[in-house]
Amino acid sequence: MKFISYLARTVFFILVFMATLSACNGAPPPTITQKPIAMTEKQHPANPYYSRTDTTSLTLSDAVWKEVLTPAVYEVARHGSTEQAFSGKYWDAEARGTYFCAACGNKLFRSDAKFATTCGWPSFFETVRPNSVLYRKDSSFGMERTEVVCGRCKAHLGHVFDDGPPPTGKRFCMNSIVLDFEPDKPSSKGPQ
Ligand SMILES: [Zn+2]
Repeated sequence: MKFISYLARTVFFILVFMATLSACNGAPPPTITQKPIAMTEKQHPANPYYSRTDTTSLTLSDAVWKEVLTPAVYEVARHGSTEQAFSGKYWDAEARGTYFCAACGNKLFRSDAKFATTCGWPSFFETVRPNSVLYRKDSSFGMERTEVVCGRCKAHLGHVFDDGPPPTGKRFCMNSIVLDFEPDKPSSKGPQ
């Protein structure tokens, strides 16, 4: 009796499994497969321009950026919006690892250059490479500030100020939403 019940259950699960399979086969293919997806960048399957290894400069139209970025990233990266202080995911993060541009994957900062602030945004005293970012004069809101944009895709990242700690005295005040954090692997021995 027990065997029959086991058999019935097994047959039932096989049937359910087959039904699931055929349902998947019947579904229309996602339109995104029409694009050259960067298969190695699992977190950004909708953004074919995202790469953590390609440093080639990206010049894309606003319409393309709107299509490949999430609305929140798009607003900050392409329209220069600023996330609310203390609202981002990295302002008080302390883990060891690397921060990349959330729009294109460009390597921007190491956690070693991050310092604790009370401003509510993740802050760093230096970039990974001098050309990781570019600078623009920003005279908006009646202030003279230096805007920081991604060196690869020109995404707005935040601003840099001269009240940072040694050794640079700089404070790169960034928006968490335009940063992607990759923690170091346990065997990793610092920056590569
Ligand atoms: Zn970028």
